[in-house]
Amino acid sequence: MLTVKSFTFNPVEENTYILYNAKKECCIIDPGCYFPEERDRLKTGIIETGLQPVLLLNTHCHLDHVFGNKYVYDTWQLPLHIHPNEKKVLEFAPQSASMWQLPFDNYEGPLVYLKPGESIKIGEDILQILFTPGHSPGSVSFYHEEGGFVIGGDVLFNGSIGRTDLPGGDYATLIKSIQQQLFTLPDDTKVYSGHGPMTTVGMEKMNNPFVKIY
Ligand SMILES: [Zn+2]
Ligand SMILES: [Zn+2]
Repeated sequence: MLTVKSFTFNPVEENTYILYNAKKECCIIDPGCYFPEERDRLKTGIIETGLQPVLLLNTHCHLDHVFGNKYVYDTWQLPLHIHPNEKKVLEFAPQSASMWQLPFDNYEGPLVYLKPGESIKIGEDILQILFTPGHSPGSVSFYHEEGGFVIGGDVLFNGSIGRTDLPGGDYATLIKSIQQQLFTLPDDTKVYSGHGPMTTVGMEKMNNPFVKIY
């Protein structure tokens, strides 16, 4: 079973997640570390926990989730895994960064494409790839059934949902993704979002003002 460790990085307080197994192999999801101090904090956290990074994943490629991709690749030689619809979002990130006055070196290494409906493994542990577009055209969520949690990126937040006014975003698509991909998971499934505190599927079904159950 996988254990979750999280960091909050960069000026928009993005959550970066590390999932690790009993053998201390880990995957890094959405490394948002921007400042050198944040990159040191990520590396130190990984080393101090005795972890060996084996996989680099992005839920989607908005600026705040991709700042540290190149750093992770340079440090641990891990190719980036994304949904194919996110390639153009990734390529747009430096332009978006200059608008925010947060220049950075974008990841330009090899891309490995994630296939929704399939799963990826960290050792023996399975992450199911759920296709959850709407906030971004190729948003995916990573569901670890055994551990009862999903890493959802910016699809669903504690009491809110992702914005849909960015390129490739679509409100109706986002609501459908939440209803069909996330709200169909068991109620006690923990939802780790790209921003803000953890929640559960059941809590959001009851309280989220933006999504009706059906
Ligand atoms: Zn986003
Ligand atoms: Zn975000």
